[in-house]
Amino acid sequence: MPKNKVIKILDILEKDYPNATTMLEYNSLFELLVAIVLSAQSTDAQVNNVTQKLFKKYKTPYDLAQVDINELEELIKGVGIYRNKAKNIKALGKIINEDYNDIIPDSLEELITLPGVGRKTANVMLAVGFNKPGLGVDTHVVRLANRIGLVATKNPTSIELSLKEIIPMDRWGNAHQLLIYHGRNICKSRQPNCQECSIVNYCQQLIA
Ligand code: SF4
Repeated sequence: MPKNKVIKILDILEKDYPNATTMLEYNSLFELLVAIVLSAQSTDAQVNNVTQKLFKKYKTPYDLAQVDINELEELIKGVGIYRNKAKNIKALGKIINEDYNDIIPDSLEELITLPGVGRKTANVMLAVGFNKPGLGVDTHVVRLANRIGLVATKNPTSIELSLKEIIPMDRWGNAHQLLIYHGRNICKSRQPNCQECSIVNYCQQLIA
């Protein structure tokens, strides 16, 4: 799809969702990173529910590094794959505390070396936490990018790299949020509402 069409799509979605931003609740970059790690295969509402209790007790990387793993599992079991995530966020606390002196790294290369942090998490962290170019690819982005015709692959890394080629860098973070909002509201997984879709004229896959 030509770049000017993609820009038109983003312009329209920006009008539809002028306040598109993360719904995750956090008070520090570390809390944001933990919340994004917890958000895999879970809704933002589920994550906020869990982090409300978690961050009341354990706020810092050191706190999380020290927490008893059983207690941690208990605290976060409202999100998917919580056992794995408990292990990851405890290890994350330890590494950020001991190796990074409590400072969250702000490069994709460093972020993806952290426990539980894949390219999606790292990209969202860059965009939301550091206001740097980052384009996270989650399940909504995979679905919409394919339906609209921006990409023709389900591989998240390929999608990320393709979208980064056709979307101007200063719009990467916002594009991620806009596609998520449109995916939640109109282009839903089971039943896309093409009749109500503002970008229908630019979409290759009209699902009537
Ligand atoms: S036209 Fe339909 S398939 Fe295309 S983006 Fe809109 S809702 Fe999704």
